[in-house]
Amino acid sequence: MTNSLVSAVDSVITYLANIVDNPKINYKELVVLSTWLQTAFEVYILRRQLPCYERSLPPPALKDHVSKETFTKAQSYSKDKTRYSLLKLVFDQFLGWGIIKFGAYAGVWNFTGNLMNKIGISQSRVITHSLLWMSVLTLSSSIPGLPWSYYHTFVLEQKHGFNKSTVKLWIADTLKTYALAAVIGLPILAGFLKVIEWAGKSFVPWLMVFLISIQLSLQIIYPTFIQPLFNKLEPLPQGELRTKVEELAGQLGFPLKHLYVIDGSKRSSHSNAYFYGLPWSKHIVIYDTLIKDSTVDEVVAVLGHELGHWYHAHPTKLLLVTEIHLLLTLTIFSIFINNKSLYSSFGFDPSLATTAPQPICIGFMLFQLVLEPTDAFVKFLLNAETRRMEYQADEFAVELDKKSDLASALIKLHITNLSSPHNDWLYSMYHHSHPTLPERLNAMESYKGDDKLKLKGKGQEGKKDL
Ligand SMILES: [Zn+2]
Repeated sequence: MTNSLVSAVDSVITYLANIVDNPKINYKELVVLSTWLQTAFEVYILRRQLPCYERSLPPPALKDHVSKETFTKAQSYSKDKTRYSLLKLVFDQFLGWGIIKFGAYAGVWNFTGNLMNKIGISQSRVITHSLLWMSVLTLSSSIPGLPWSYYHTFVLEQKHGFNKSTVKLWIADTLKTYALAAVIGLPILAGFLKVIEWAGKSFVPWLMVFLISIQLSLQIIYPTFIQPLFNKLEPLPQGELRTKVEELAGQLGFPLKHLYVIDGSKRSSHSNAYFYGLPWSKHIVIYDTLIKDSTVDEVVAVLGHELGHWYHAHPTKLLLVTEIHLLLTLTIFSIFINNKSLYSSFGFDPSLATTAPQPICIGFMLFQLVLEPTDAFVKFLLNAETRRMEYQADEFAVELDKKSDLASALIKLHITNLSSPHNDWLYSMYHHSHPTLPERLNAMESYKGDDKLKLKGKGQEGKKDL
């Protein structure tokens, strides 16, 4: 049964692979066209949003909570951010287009191959060659973005009073990010290529196992080893807030192991809170900025919302969606892995697609370019799903009798973050993983309660759902 299924999938893949490996298909032109179309679509969406910043009054749900001064500030900050995004989008498009147009992918491949020859490393070591190739490509495509990142922090955020970072800290952050990408990214890429090389035609399930174990290990490594490189996490001191959060966790059966405050204010005055960890041992992290700007009950209400995400197993569901997306991507890749037309249209020798040792990295990179336009659809679908989860988490907090505290906390967050009061619906669907504040306030107001969610005084009941 399993064998016949495997051979059926194999023959479908071979059949499709033959269709898409056609010298008449110019993949390079196709990719160029689709990136221009995608950029045009994104410019259109940003242009739709711009008139929202010209409105003179806040939306009805906010009019009693936002002063004229805050409203004007939020409008001007959002307008600057959107203009910045527009220019950056066009810049990135020209950069990406130039890289494809002038044959940088094949050019850098030849350049790194010659470099290896010079220092006496055989070009048959395709994984070493691939790592070198990716490093040069990544560096040369990300360095032009550094002035943009500098401008974003030290001009845009600075102008609106959010920036707390210094040039020294910014340089250190940038260097640390590059170093981490090399230390973590390159070995993962090498493993990824090795698994495909080793497993041959049936690489998809093996690669899934490899990538899922990497994701799980990163979940453990990130908070312990990576996060401390950028931020300081300290236990939340004893006091009213700690007691109330522990009480809430106990009431819901949330396996709270550590409760931290993070020095988010080191870089920016934007606020937040989140939780992470393994199913039986969770950590809650609260931004110092959130604690500073809110009352104890408001912070607890925000955590009530966060624990709603936990109660409904939202992180697990999102992880599952990510894995399904990954499985689909890899399966489609197995259709393109030996595609000679793809290699040759980007200026590579087509025999690289079929003769061992095959540089799979090239195929995967080019395949991703072909697949890129589907990202826009994935983004729409994922945002629709995360918005549904946000409403559910808000409802959970309402069930905990925290409606008014959550509402006032959200309004304060909205004000301190100077979020945009008005939003175009299409812009919002494409760019926002969360519903807008007026949408959330209205939804909480009209929420009538859920019989399945009888939380009050039920102690450990929350545990059952996970
Ligand atoms: Zn949320």
